[in-house]
Amino acid sequence: TILADQIAAGEVIERPASVVKELMENAIDAHATQIDILLEEAGIKKIEIIDNGFGISQDEVELAFRRHATSKIVNRTDLFKIKTLGFRGEALPSIAAIADVTMTTAVKDKPGMLINIKGGQIIIKKSAPARVGTAIVVKNLFFNTPARLKYLKTPNTELSKIVDIVNRLALSYPNIAFNLKHEDHQLLKTAGNGNVQQVIANIYGLKNAQKMLTIETENIDFKVSGFISLPELTRASREYISILINGRYIKNYQLVKALLTGYGSRLMVGRYPLAVISINMDPLLVDVNVHPTKQEVRLSQESQLMELLTSVVQERLATLNL
Ligand code: ADP
Ligand code: MG
Repeated sequence: TILADQIAAGEVIERPASVVKELMENAIDAHATQIDILLEEAGIKKIEIIDNGFGISQDEVELAFRRHATSKIVNRTDLFKIKTLGFRGEALPSIAAIADVTMTTAVKDKPGMLINIKGGQIIIKKSAPARVGTAIVVKNLFFNTPARLKYLKTPNTELSKIVDIVNRLALSYPNIAFNLKHEDHQLLKTAGNGNVQQVIANIYGLKNAQKMLTIETENIDFKVSGFISLPELTRASREYISILINGRYIKNYQLVKALLTGYGSRLMVGRYPLAVISINMDPLLVDVNVHPTKQEVRLSQESQLMELLTSVVQERLATLNL
């Protein structure tokens, strides 16, 4: 029902950045190599996401907007094996329940489809010419849930949350070309050529990218690689530390702490390095928290991984003094 969708929306869609995250993840799941994100008024007025992924076939478009219709979870252990970012089948119905959503989509060699849903009601559904891939326009977010609209922060804050999400995904997927625009301002453009250091340069500036050091280590259980900044390049927030486990952005404060321990007294109190660290491990050792919006994960053998991380950072920084 529309009401159930609105309630679910409250869980999944807190702010414009949540919409951007969900739609970008759908584009990534559809194997897009190019994702454009176009915003107006920090995404509150309009979020447009265009991908060149595999699209949705005509007979599945409506289903995609029905709650749990596409849920991929069969049982709990499946959670460990999920290969796609989406698995709950909740995002599209939630967004469509609280905004004016138009999707144009087509799969290869088939006619495309246009669907417009406003506040959960299908307004238009028709065949339409479209290139392979999906374009989705979300207008007037929270138009029918004024309480949620009121809860939003200033447009600048909402925009910075979107930028964080896009940056993070760009770092996680260097093979995808991202293009983020807010009104007339281009906020990020990446090449999609797989070069993480170049993405770092796109996000943080070229000079800062040159202040990054590569790290690389492995043991039987973990393979760690990535970039950490020189101790002099710091920020006042640990938001600039990105940790990916098996290619997925996660939050785990213990791992951040391990990284900081590696820097030791080279960091001033309250300062954090920039870092993009990619960890590969047996998915069975990762416990994905199922909360829809949190990315917090728990790991078995966390302390071993912490030690590995601390020592690789320590050793890498020690080479600077040679
Ligand atoms: P989930 O991602 O959890 O499956 P969503 O509500 O986000 O649920 O999306 C529902 C379904 O619609 C997806 O499973 C996918 O099949 C389809 N879909 C959504 N967005 C896209 C897209 N950009 N390209 C291709 N398919 C999509
Ligand atoms: Mg999804």
